[in-house]
Amino acid sequence: MFSAVFLLTVLLPTVLAAPTASSANPALTARSGPAAGTIITQCTAPNTIALTFDDGPWQYEGAILSALEAAGAKATFFVTGTLYNCIYTQSTSLKAAFAAGHQIGSHTWTHKSLDSQSAASITTEMTKLETAFANILGVKPTYMRPPNGRAGGPVAGVMKTLGYRIVTWDIDSEDWNKVSAAASEAKFTAASSGTSHIGLMHETIPTTSSTLVPWLLNWAKTKGLKMVTVAECLGDKDGAYTTAAEKTGATSC
Ligand SMILES: [Zn+2]
Repeated sequence: MFSAVFLLTVLLPTVLAAPTASSANPALTARSGPAAGTIITQCTAPNTIALTFDDGPWQYEGAILSALEAAGAKATFFVTGTLYNCIYTQSTSLKAAFAAGHQIGSHTWTHKSLDSQSAASITTEMTKLETAFANILGVKPTYMRPPNGRAGGPVAGVMKTLGYRIVTWDIDSEDWNKVSAAASEAKFTAASSGTSHIGLMHETIPTTSSTLVPWLLNWAKTKGLKMVTVAECLGDKDGAYTTAAEKTGATSC
């Protein structure tokens, strides 16, 4: 078994780098993290917390990136194609987050709840964003977060086919529900200690950027929680991306 794993680990980059018709579908290639279609609610690596920011890219991303960098923290951004603005108009901050080592995941093209849609419609929501990721970042994410956390119906089956791991959370800041930053902070302090966490936030909420994030970075440090990407907190540090979809050269939605 060890030799098989070793060979896979050594050969996988070669396989992914070779764009031949005979290559296995890279989206479906075995990797070290959870299998495609798996729904993930918590980190597994001890003493880690994955801070996740949904719904961007948006105008507060730069401030969040600065705070993360000052704290030596990595985070995960689940971004959409069109929810707050066209992703291409926000490509500078998206590229900056990617270049800084934060994880970029898919949050669908338009942010419709997926559980009530057809498999074909769900697939379109994912592939339109894959094209934008190809054009802007040159990669395809392997982790996604379903809009509104709705992972029922055909969602898991379609994500298995498309090669995505599904990420929800175990701590909901409820910033989306317009609670105060203090109320969000209480959600984190109430979380069970000795456990690794995935925290849900939204980069589009002003007080999340201005108040919750600085508090959280300090809180996690005092708790001895290492702030890492979702992929890293699942023991899949190098598995956040796979071969990009075909580039189209598009620059607008
Ligand atoms: Zn969302």
